[in-house]
Amino acid sequence: MPIGLNKVVTIHYTLKDESGNLLDSTLGSQPFSYLTGHDQIIPKLEEEIDTMLIGGKKNILISADEAYGEYRDDLVHSVKKSNFPDDVDLEIGMQFVTNAPDGTQMPFVIKSIDGDDVTIDFNHPLAGKNLDFEIELIDVRDATDEELAHGHIHGPNSHH
Ligand code: ZN
Repeated sequence: MPIGLNKVVTIHYTLKDESGNLLDSTLGSQPFSYLTGHDQIIPKLEEEIDTMLIGGKKNILISADEAYGEYRDDLVHSVKKSNFPDDVDLEIGMQFVTNAPDGTQMPFVIKSIDGDDVTIDFNHPLAGKNLDFEIELIDVRDATDEELAHGHIHGPNSHH
């Protein structure tokens, strides 16, 4: 029986890229929980976990176009150092957030610095990567009415 919508699903996961490099893992720390049917994780990943049984493990491969999309060169821009606050010592890999005209927060990372020119990258850090998940399904429970009203889970790690 599929897990279905409006459940709180708790998993341990290990995420590697297609070359086997470790990108992220919950092993050795708190497992990760999400509310099903609320686009909180990659849709393809949610779909694959939907058919798992509690205690089961599954290897799930997700191509870049089904995960965070292909890497887009048009999301890489060159700006002048003067666009940044004077008191910030810019370094490659630093992350910033800027606001789009509509108020949307747009995170970016500094990709390179050449004199007064700074190259910034709005791609998701996992864009262009084929993802290799090892999932262990720990628990499934019904979401509470309050969780459904808020659209997120409540628990030891929540904001409440
Ligand atoms: Zn809440």
